[in-house]
Amino acid sequence: MNESTRGMAFSRRVPALIAGLAMTLATAAASAAGVTDKMISSDATTTDDVLTVGLGQSGQRFSPLKTINSDNIGDLVPAWTFSFGGEKQRGQETQALVHDGKMFITGSYSRIWALDAKTGKRLWGYEHRLPDGIMPCCDVVNRGAALYDNLVIFGTLDARLVALNADTGKVVWNEQLGDYKAGYSYTAAPLIVKGKVITGVSGGEFGIVGRVDARDAKTGKLIWSRPTVEGHMGTLNGKDNGISGKLNASWPGDMWKYGGAATWLGCTYGADVNLLYCGTGNPAPWNAHLRPGDNLYSSSTVAIDADKGVIKWSYQSTPNDHWDFDGVNEFIPFDMKDGTKAGAKADRNGFFYVLDRTNGKLLNASPFVSKVTWATGIDLKTGRPNEAKNRPGDPAATEKGESVFAAPSFLGGKNWMPMAYSQDTGYFYVPSNEWGMDIWNEPITYKKGAAYMGAGFNIKPLYDDYIGALRAMDPATGKVVWEYKNEAPLWGGVMTTAGNLVFLGTPDGYFKALDAKTGALLWKFQTGSGVVGQPATWEQDGEQYVAIASGWGGAVPLWGGDVAKKIKDISQGGMMWVFKLHKSTKSSVAAK
Ligand code: CA
Ligand code: CA
Repeated sequence: MNESTRGMAFSRRVPALIAGLAMTLATAAASAAGVTDKMISSDATTTDDVLTVGLGQSGQRFSPLKTINSDNIGDLVPAWTFSFGGEKQRGQETQALVHDGKMFITGSYSRIWALDAKTGKRLWGYEHRLPDGIMPCCDVVNRGAALYDNLVIFGTLDARLVALNADTGKVVWNEQLGDYKAGYSYTAAPLIVKGKVITGVSGGEFGIVGRVDARDAKTGKLIWSRPTVEGHMGTLNGKDNGISGKLNASWPGDMWKYGGAATWLGCTYGADVNLLYCGTGNPAPWNAHLRPGDNLYSSSTVAIDADKGVIKWSYQSTPNDHWDFDGVNEFIPFDMKDGTKAGAKADRNGFFYVLDRTNGKLLNASPFVSKVTWATGIDLKTGRPNEAKNRPGDPAATEKGESVFAAPSFLGGKNWMPMAYSQDTGYFYVPSNEWGMDIWNEPITYKKGAAYMGAGFNIKPLYDDYIGALRAMDPATGKVVWEYKNEAPLWGGVMTTAGNLVFLGTPDGYFKALDAKTGALLWKFQTGSGVVGQPATWEQDGEQYVAIASGWGGAVPLWGGDVAKKIKDISQGGMMWVFKLHKSTKSSVAAK
């Protein structure tokens, strides 16, 4: 071969090379384009991916998929499993995200993995290096990540927000949410709204100041910050953006400076009104005798303009909270049958609230647990509770104030575990618990990094045969349509599908599917450890998959008093379980 023929050979090959290169570039571009705002806005209706914790920005946890349904659920079998590994097995409260054939899951101790969604093959893992002295109140859990562009973003126990390259697991940016030495941490899944990553903060038992932040999701740069304790200044683009509420209007003296109202479950989003709905936790300290007043914006739903970072309305479910009822529970936008733009929340205080999501006006409130001692009802005119005499006594002159029995317990008629709303049945599926508590107050003063509570307690079951109950609530009537009882307390998330199914996990290790209309148990599978994770479902190559994390832990074993004793024999773990319909031997042989 001489020079000229070699040259010809080269030039003849060029078109093929260019074509090949162009194809590679096109594939790379599709992958690098990653998750867009448009994809996130429509996540609830697209069935080939799960881009948000909550199966959509509104957090309804409803999937239109019905390949798996109440007729064939008996054929649901494991497709693959993945072990979280490590010696430190604690509560696994994550929800799987699925994009482009990859699954992203978080684990205890601020860990995250990318897996092949079809096979479970590990693609990469990242273990956040945690400092000594972190102060998570309620186990070292994580409730999931967020996807944006080619990033996967999650919060950590040392109160940081970390963005990783979704293909490689390499850190792209890492921002501080709060000072972990002052009690800040983060466990909730971030939410993406119009290119911004929305987060709250945890640490209400340490006298932190609750806040909602919006950052540029691509860079982590802070755009706005909105405190949820009255008197604190918000910011927008680095400038003051007005204080929340009015200084000392609902807080005495300097108590607002360490006022709690932690936004530890983050927010949901109502796209039609451009409002973020963020639940806030207890005012600090628990001893309410030290902070007379309503203590805004604690134990409330706070609606925040997603662009401007200002509070548009708020609704306080437990004014001057004496019981650590928080009120942090998720607020889920939905439309009533008559078209009313509503939102619903099953509050830790035992009441199921339906509000007008445009202005926060109370439409309906009714108990979703059998026993509520602290209030006889909610006044629909004023929106305030008709409070019963059930406050723990003032310890001012003594070491310990008078103890009272109150129900629900501070772990709540419902805690963090998210409910689901079915667009088919029109019901909310509320994971609830029946328990009460002895609670008393003690003197307390704020000290950075120390528990700031001023209260003691012991949680007790109300009934011998069950604590947990999944309840289908009709938001139009406030009535319980059906209930499914469980001996141990429920602590995992719920998902419902167009296949007439409701999925939930239980501490005794089962992942279960119920009939969405009747509550009848249709299917269960033993996962080997307690289930406190959140279900997700998607379809790939014509098959529907359902995923759940198994791994016992969370707040109940740590704070549950007499209840914790009842559940002490549950094995710990850390596994991802993915299920699909079994194809019979006959049909797979025929296919070959
Ligand atoms: Ca989707
Ligand atoms: Ca609390």
